[in-house]
Amino acid sequence: MSSPRPTVADDTTPVDVFELGHFVAGRVVPGTSGRRGPVHDPATGALRGHVGYASEADTQAAIAAAAAALPAWSAMPPLQRARILFRFKALLESHLDELARLISSEHGKVFSDARGEVIRGMEVVEFACGIPQLLKGEFSESVGTGVDSWSQRQPVGVCAGITPFNFPAMVPMWMFPVAIACGNTFVLKPSEKDPSCPMRLAQLLKEAGLPDGVCNVVNGDREAVDTLLTDPRVGAVSFVGSTPVAEYIYRTASTHGKRVQALGGAKNHMVVMPDADTANAASALIGAAYGSAGERCMAISVAVAVGDAAGPLVEAVRGQLAQLRIGAGLDDGAEMGPLVTREHLERVRSYVDLGVQEGAKLVVDGRGLRVKGYENGYFLGPCLFDAVEPTMRIYREEIFGPVLCVVRVPDLASALQLVNEHEFGNGTAIFTASGEAARTFTQGVQAGMVGINVPIPVPMAFHSFGGWKRSLFGALHVHGPDGVRFYTRLKTVTSRWPTSRRETAQFVMPTMQ
Ligand code: NAD
Repeated sequence: MSSPRPTVADDTTPVDVFELGHFVAGRVVPGTSGRRGPVHDPATGALRGHVGYASEADTQAAIAAAAAALPAWSAMPPLQRARILFRFKALLESHLDELARLISSEHGKVFSDARGEVIRGMEVVEFACGIPQLLKGEFSESVGTGVDSWSQRQPVGVCAGITPFNFPAMVPMWMFPVAIACGNTFVLKPSEKDPSCPMRLAQLLKEAGLPDGVCNVVNGDREAVDTLLTDPRVGAVSFVGSTPVAEYIYRTASTHGKRVQALGGAKNHMVVMPDADTANAASALIGAAYGSAGERCMAISVAVAVGDAAGPLVEAVRGQLAQLRIGAGLDDGAEMGPLVTREHLERVRSYVDLGVQEGAKLVVDGRGLRVKGYENGYFLGPCLFDAVEPTMRIYREEIFGPVLCVVRVPDLASALQLVNEHEFGNGTAIFTASGEAARTFTQGVQAGMVGINVPIPVPMAFHSFGGWKRSLFGALHVHGPDGVRFYTRLKTVTSRWPTSRRETAQFVMPTMQ
């Protein structure tokens, strides 16, 4: 890397000037690897700057900072830790538009959606502010004569988070607020595609009064990740990203004795019953399939049209898609922005080509889209496939773009079987006017998050988020009660205060009989 100038990019940073480093022990540092990658504005294709890729030594320095900060931070009363998080929450509110602009400028999603992402992350901070209540533990008086017992939750130690490009604010905030509230220290390795927002979050934490070293950020690629997965000072790893990487993270970190939660990819189905309101179901589908250009782990990528629902539904979606406003994320009124990188655009486009080859019916073809004034942006118009078969790769694989597949089935039982036979089980939804159909679906479906007439059922911060099957490796979901369980170790204490009279040795299991 030539003459690194570590900065945090903000929305006023001129294009092609920033050189992003890492955030370690409360300071922005340049890193030592000499390796870096470009960060582009997906709407224009322009280079915004470069992000440094941490070496093993850079990552170890961040782990060392987290380990050094751990004794004092874990000893701080939870109420004081919560007060820092309250101040961080206030800073998130006052910097909301700045953070959202950073996200739009590097991810491409529209500004209103980027604001929503920051707010959903902020809600996890609000949840973590309740940490004195969440860590209260359990107490049983007189579990034996003169014997009391209690369970308490203590921090795991240094925790690591590895996060994807598609939510550069929200997904890191699924992790670090709960982890540090519980008394852990943290090293975040965000996506190298849109790293400016996570770096800014680390600075705001410092401004809120977080002691140096409690939350660190290393940017980079596999070299940084592998160091986090194998270093003995790291006690827990949270990951969110694609399934092949999630599986690798789970296996490697588990082998190195860490607790792991690794959230993977998805292919979320929305079942539309014949009794559903067609226009409303179509509107819900369009928002859920094409919002954020389909780059959401909870995006609906398969519409399962039951019986007579199919024809009118496809027509309604086609009709409404003609009105979709596509533009740069920061353009007023834009509803869908570009894809994150040129490589990802080519990958998604190649799936559309594949679907045509496989024999699916391309009802709406977005491949020819040109957005005036943004000719070098990574735009793909919405694509809609009908007559998709479960054997096709466009059905089986995660595309992660603005491509919706419609599969037609005769009845609810076939819809349920279809959803359950898919390798992923993140989210799913049913649109119906029948309570009986909704209950049958909810009880029988193999997925971690279910919506009833709600297309994207992302749990609120005080519940936990996670999928089933190959959408999650590990036992615990993120944030909410499971987040507290993941970032704490349970300790159960049994206590008695005997009198000074002499006691004899006991050779049998103590019982109450
Ligand atoms: P990704 O798996 O390519 O990258 C995720 C993180 O892992 C990044 O920080 C990246 O630098 C790192 N990484 C990538 N390849 C690696 C490797 N070989 N070894 C070690 N680390 C590696 O995912 P992405 O493209 O950034 O994000 C999109 C994916 O994330 C989609 O599959 C989406 O479904 C998934 N996702 C899932 C959820 C969920 O809650 N289940 C949420 C958001 C995104």
